[in-house]
Amino acid sequence: MARYIVNKNPDDNGTYVIHKKHECNHLPSPENQIKLGDYSSPANALFDARRTYDDKVFDSCKYCCPECHTE
Ligand SMILES: [Zn+2]
Repeated sequence: MARYIVNKNPDDNGTYVIHKKHECNHLPSPENQIKLGDYSSPANALFDARRTYDDKVFDSCKYCCPECHTE
């Protein structure tokens, strides 16, 4: 399991990027992190984020979750 957070601020494409909190060197600053929870894979974290915030577009960080990064 890994702990995931999402950047409170979207990127230039309007996408909200999720990160592994303890494995990424490209995290947003702490005040811009929204805690998602603990998941066994970034796919599960993305699934839950999309279900919770169904009006937002999510992607995973290309550094800490490259297997689910789509852009
Ligand atoms: Zn990351």
